[in-house]
Amino acid sequence: MTDLRLFNSLTRQLETFQPIRPGKARVYTCGPTVYNYQHIGNMRAYVFADTLGRTLRFKGYELTHVINITDVGHLTSDADAGEDKMERMAAREGRSAWDIAKFYQEDFERDLARLNVEPKKHPRATEYVEAMIEWGKRIAVKHCYELDSGLYFDVTTVADYGRLARAHTDDGEGRIETVEGKRNAADFAIWRKTPPGETRQMEWDSPWGRGAPGWHLECSVMGEALLGFPFDIHTGGIDHREIHHPNEIAQNQAYCCTNGLDLAENSGARIWMHNNFLVERAGKMSKSSGEFLRLQLLVDKGYHPLAYRMLCLQAHYRSELEFSWEGLGASLTFLKRWVGQLERLSRHNTPNDLSARDRSKLERFEREVEEAISDDLNTPKLLALANGFMFDVELRPVAVFKGFDHVDQILGLGLLQHLTRNPMKLAASGALLALNRTDLRIPPMAATITEPKIKSILAQRKEARSARDFATSDRLRDELAAQGVEVMDGDPLGWDWKLGE
Ligand code: AMP
Ligand code: ZN
Repeated sequence: MTDLRLFNSLTRQLETFQPIRPGKARVYTCGPTVYNYQHIGNMRAYVFADTLGRTLRFKGYELTHVINITDVGHLTSDADAGEDKMERMAAREGRSAWDIAKFYQEDFERDLARLNVEPKKHPRATEYVEAMIEWGKRIAVKHCYELDSGLYFDVTTVADYGRLARAHTDDGEGRIETVEGKRNAADFAIWRKTPPGETRQMEWDSPWGRGAPGWHLECSVMGEALLGFPFDIHTGGIDHREIHHPNEIAQNQAYCCTNGLDLAENSGARIWMHNNFLVERAGKMSKSSGEFLRLQLLVDKGYHPLAYRMLCLQAHYRSELEFSWEGLGASLTFLKRWVGQLERLSRHNTPNDLSARDRSKLERFEREVEEAISDDLNTPKLLALANGFMFDVELRPVAVFKGFDHVDQILGLGLLQHLTRNPMKLAASGALLALNRTDLRIPPMAATITEPKIKSILAQRKEARSARDFATSDRLRDELAAQGVEVMDGDPLGWDWKLGE
């Protein structure tokens, strides 16, 4: 088996994955702050984490994968300034912070399911506050100091602070608004006291007064509690490389420091991985400016959620990916070609066993898949390989199904879901595909016309065209266009109409 090589942000190098516990892989992924819907940029982070998780399972490791739910403590700035995101949204929406958290967690989990992200553990930060206080007590004496506003971590008390960000203690982004009395600009809150005279919806008693934990603490505590230190891989978006993860690492060093403060030994995880951003042409994707790009918006406009998963897979996770509707449309077309091809092959009445040529091609394909994914999760390469295999006319359909089933363990498109138990039976069975062309054709929310109606007009139009009655044909085409249906004559995919936006 090819060694799995992954890019470790801590060393800025490709490293061979070696599990700390034989046969097991433990992964922690920083999860969402559930004060609002997730935008599709956030979802890129989870598609990446899922691809990593699937790869580890593909490689035979028993996977434990955590994506935490931040339901307390994240301020509007990643440094310690601004308001608590949860409390602010609660005030704005006139609902309790607990209700807000529940609502947006459920929405998040629905989006994960729609993107075929495999189930993970989703611990909530508020369930670990006691553990966070215990952790704070353990590191307070040697590493923290108290101010009126809370308990702060002194970053000069650990070796190599900020190594992950390649930053010095006095710079790094997000340090502009600082807290009165901090010893170093990069020091961060372990505990934030509720200001005198105020009451927060989410607050707890602690040795440092009533208040709430700092945001960075939760990931250290939940990672240690659910996976044990050190675990194998910690992931997050590239922004976390700058503040959140250096701070987690500093806390972990302090917590594990019985053997000294050595960074490599005590950073909590052996490999730190970061996905690059999904960006809009106008710049950074945000929940507050412009069109709020949620997965639901894509669906409302008629794009199947898996077209978005496909879009993510088409870029390497360490490259920036620019979002555009055209790009998403191209990903949907790519997906449609695959579904169309699988549908076509499933109608072939060909032998149900593999020929000698099938076997050798399949073997080679599986080897190439293994190499591509082992090369720091090269999903664009994987897609190219899968595409070539799927359209290889020399292969019997059963071989294509077997090969696709194999690679889809990593791609996670689930096109042949029902078949995984017995792909060899595929060509003989009737209900084959988990996803068919009708599923991929989601009418936009605004559509006023139904699919049977479209089909009936198209049938009339076909008749008119074969009778060379182009006037009628054009009139019917305009009639459809007036209702948002674009007719695509000669569509090479045979998907002869689409609903416009
Ligand atoms: P947040 O809810 O802001 O904590 O973000 C959740 C996850 O999404 C984190 O891992 C972020 O690093 C990541 N993230 C935020 N914005 C983007 C983006 N535009 N593209 C990719 N990942 C992002
Ligand atoms: Zn985190």
